[in-house]
Amino acid sequence: MKAMLLTAPGELVPGDVAKPKADGGQVLVHVTHSGICGTDYKIFSGAIPVRYPRIMGHEMAGEVVEAPASTGLRTGDRVIVDPEGYDGVCFFCRAGHTGLCPNGYLVGRDVDGGFAEYLASPASHVFRLPEAVDTAHAPLIQVLTTCLHAQRQVDIFPGEYVVVLGLGVTGQLHVQLAKARGATVIGVTRSADKRALAEKLGADLTIPGGDDAIAKVREATEGRGPDVVIETTGVVQQLATAIHMARPGGRILMYGIITAKEAALPFYDLYFKELRLINARVAKSEDYPASIALVERGAVRLGPIVSEVMPLGELKSAIGMLGADGGGQRLKIILDHN
Ligand SMILES: [Zn+2]
Repeated sequence: MKAMLLTAPGELVPGDVAKPKADGGQVLVHVTHSGICGTDYKIFSGAIPVRYPRIMGHEMAGEVVEAPASTGLRTGDRVIVDPEGYDGVCFFCRAGHTGLCPNGYLVGRDVDGGFAEYLASPASHVFRLPEAVDTAHAPLIQVLTTCLHAQRQVDIFPGEYVVVLGLGVTGQLHVQLAKARGATVIGVTRSADKRALAEKLGADLTIPGGDDAIAKVREATEGRGPDVVIETTGVVQQLATAIHMARPGGRILMYGIITAKEAALPFYDLYFKELRLINARVAKSEDYPASIALVERGAVRLGPIVSEVMPLGELKSAIGMLGADGGGQRLKIILDHN
């Protein structure tokens, strides 16, 4: 089959490899669409080391080619694949925390992934798409599951104020999820385009990022500050902003992955305001049916978050467009494998 092979950091070439076999209860999927994200860029650049050659890609959708009868899946069914593997037998898996499994692995990083014609996946990780969900947008559901899993860790009640810091792909998804939970949602970013998109997707208010953002948010939240701040950028300074911004007794969801090892943070505010910092890692199986249902009902819209559709063969330039800065004004790049 055709696949895009990463043969060394920065070396991404089309190749011909053996078609995967679906055995032991696996499902063989013909991948028709995939999404690329910052993790792919880090693998591509070598910042995340992998074994070469490696087929990257962990956001993928396609059609069932072959499936065990017990799965209820039929040839031609449109599906998405959960790329997070776990062993199912360790302390964490048995406690229901599959995302914390010490033997966990990511398809497209630790094993070959979706930037190829076919992928074999455990049946437990394959989810059928309903009629109303476009396959071309479906790779974004994998991203949505991580946002949903993260929001499950935070109590958000109808009528509460939720601020989303950063309105990239995950920020736009968090805005929609928080709206679906009945919150009044305020989006904050420097980008006027991303603010306009967040408003189109349901944000009640958006505010330009900058020095006066905290004051403007306070003004919009009855002088208190928001009940919940969702930080999506992974930039330490934004976490500091979240701490300053949240109301006393508020909650901060640290969704953006902070890779900085050291930072200056207003620690005293954490104490003085009795803030709760909440972290979330990867999604769990339960997040897939829930995310698919949200998209099916139109509570979360994915189409407007897709900024480019490119052929699979142009993966290298697509990843280049994404770049080290996360792509600037770009949102999701989808690869069409047809
Ligand atoms: Zn485990």
